[in-house]
Amino acid sequence: MYVVCKEHVELAIDRFLDEYEEAPDVVNLQETKFAKWDPPPHCEEKDCPHHAEFLVV
Ligand SMILES: [Zn+2]
Repeated sequence: MYVVCKEHVELAIDRFLDEYEEAPDVVNLQETKFAKWDPPPHCEEKDCPHHAEFLVV
């Protein structure tokens, strides 16, 4: 599972494909509320300053 900004969503999809060999679901964090989980506020790519916008799962 990756939590990334718009710029890194392609990268996260490629990484997911490499790792799991199937296409991920991409969830827009702005449009989705989670009952038991708060997504991290920032993109998890190293040194990326942007807000997290997508969950690749
Ligand atoms: Zn990013």
